[in-house]
Amino acid sequence: MVSTGSTDAHRVFLASRNAKKLAEMRRILAEHLPDVEVLGLDDVPAYDEPVEDQPSFEGNALLKASAGLAATGLPSVADDSGLCVDALNGMPGVLSARWSGHPRSDDRNNTLLLDQLHDVPDDRRRAHFACAVAFCAPGHEPIVVEGRMDGRVIHETRGTGGFGYDVVFEADEYPGRTTAELDAADKDAISHRGRALRLIAPQVAAALSNG
Ligand code: IMP
Repeated sequence: MVSTGSTDAHRVFLASRNAKKLAEMRRILAEHLPDVEVLGLDDVPAYDEPVEDQPSFEGNALLKASAGLAATGLPSVADDSGLCVDALNGMPGVLSARWSGHPRSDDRNNTLLLDQLHDVPDDRRRAHFACAVAFCAPGHEPIVVEGRMDGRVIHETRGTGGFGYDVVFEADEYPGRTTAELDAADKDAISHRGRALRLIAPQVAAALSNG
């Protein structure tokens, strides 16, 4: 359990190892929960993190948030997300992070994905990012919400921002630019993660203030 400097009513634990994803989540939550201190895995004693073996984003997000609560005693938020490509029947989906095997590599994942879609014409390159965010707190029913961002997979990698598959994905809202070429605020406004976090933030605030 984590000892409390400030009260738990003002702290949430964000259970994610992905530094870039964590930065996005912190940024979005800070906007909507300005008085809440967001702790990451580096701020709490190490614990056995669960294997993400569920078939859905929702299941994995719940697994991570409930393990976070069990290990730290703190109200815990976790997300699970991925890219779902129509021409691959929704894959990589929950396997997005490890699509090209271990050790995990964004570059290899993107190379493999572009290779798999090599012969797929423009009108069949539809895809969406999906994100489930779960919140587990002592004395509260778990909450899970979902967000998505629709777009298409391009034919090459472009851009230096973001992470993961951002370099190969153009959102419908910004045709001609990958999400790796967007300002952080522009991506947050339309992203699967931004949408899910904005949906859950008021519920997290309510749960924290009810104790
Ligand atoms: P998770 O940590 O299991 O949720 O892994 C999610 C994986 O999906 C990441 O490693 C990325 O490959 C991909 N992904 C999820 N969200 C994004 C995003 O916003 N941009 C690019 N890739 C993403």
